[in-house]
Amino acid sequence: MSDSATSGQNVADTDGSHPGAGDGTRAVRAGLPEPVKHEPTLPGPVFAAHFHLPGEPTGPYTYGRDENPTWTHLERAIGELEAPGQDDVETLVFASGMAAISSVLFSQLRTGDAVVLPDDGYQALPLVRAQLEAYGIEVRTAPTAQDAQLDVLDGARLLWIETPSNPGLDVCDVRRLAEAAHARGALVAVDNTLATPLGQRPLDLGADFSVASGTKQLTGHGDVLLGYVAGRDAGAMAAVRRWRKIVGAIPGPMEAWLAHRSIATLQLRADRQNATALKVAEALRARPEISGLRYPGLPDDPSHKIASQQMRRFGCVVSFTLPTRERADRFLDALRLVEGATSFGGVRSTAERRGRWGGDAVPEGFIRLSVGAEDPEDLVSDLLRALEESAG
Ligand SMILES: *Cc1c(COP(=O)(O)O)cnc(C)c1O
Repeated sequence: MSDSATSGQNVADTDGSHPGAGDGTRAVRAGLPEPVKHEPTLPGPVFAAHFHLPGEPTGPYTYGRDENPTWTHLERAIGELEAPGQDDVETLVFASGMAAISSVLFSQLRTGDAVVLPDDGYQALPLVRAQLEAYGIEVRTAPTAQDAQLDVLDGARLLWIETPSNPGLDVCDVRRLAEAAHARGALVAVDNTLATPLGQRPLDLGADFSVASGTKQLTGHGDVLLGYVAGRDAGAMAAVRRWRKIVGAIPGPMEAWLAHRSIATLQLRADRQNATALKVAEALRARPEISGLRYPGLPDDPSHKIASQQMRRFGCVVSFTLPTRERADRFLDALRLVEGATSFGGVRSTAERRGRWGGDAVPEGFIRLSVGAEDPEDLVSDLLRALEESAG
């Protein structure tokens, strides 16, 4: 958590794109255009299916499926957070995290290629796997923990990493895996959803693509679906851009604008939510009915060592297991400040029993808790009260 502790220190450095600026400064200024007299700081959403384009069709704005100025501002903002001061990094926004993930996989892989996925990643990855296999792509999987994906890298064209993994919160060593993959000629993509760009910078750790759902903590209000891909390799990114155009998996201007507006508070939200997540984890660890408690920020968590080497913040998700499915359901019902809902990263705390979906290899009593921006004392006492009440 090195830089987060010092964020805001270089307040004189007001250029948000400057690598020396603190995270808060960078977040509030990210992607803003040069100020124009009588114009708003963040220009409103541009609603346009097509743009005036007489004569020779030259860019940047021609047709609304290809480009939109509201996306441009948002793409710059995300790029400034994923790779501060690195102008060679290109960012593309998508309609959802899955649109972004699919755009990388389906634009980079061909029939006969092999790809390595995590076997404990996001719950839609098995669906993607079936589709890749239908196109004649070999899919190998291995767990995130202990860098186990290293063992199945030989001959692969692309390595897909999800760290911390969702919902198990295992962490792998991105630098080590990226070096091994590059030595074998494979590209590397990291799903950066859980960490957010303020928690981890995959491109600095050696990845070719940082891919994420902006639906979660990046935007943080539970009201927008969004995804993005950031990458440095111009050829690879051109293929991703082409895929977006072919599939048309584009965000609406309103969603893009809401996302940009929300990113201004990312540092505030992340610092609050992540600090509370640590307090919650510390309170839960003292409880006898809880097993398998995971939070990468806990010093004795199996993920902590590598997480503290490569992450700058540990996220807002805590997971743990209650003895039975019934106990877990009673606990969730008894909560007053934590809404029963899937997804994570929002300002209002949410929790769910993951086993209700099927698919994740988790015990029946496994709970994923997303810590919001409530007062930490209120949240901790609500959780402890619900544990007591559900004991019966
Ligand atoms: C939610 C999520 C996705 C998918 O994002 P959508 O915006 O829902 O399409 C991908 N990866 C991870 C880790 C996620 O949590």
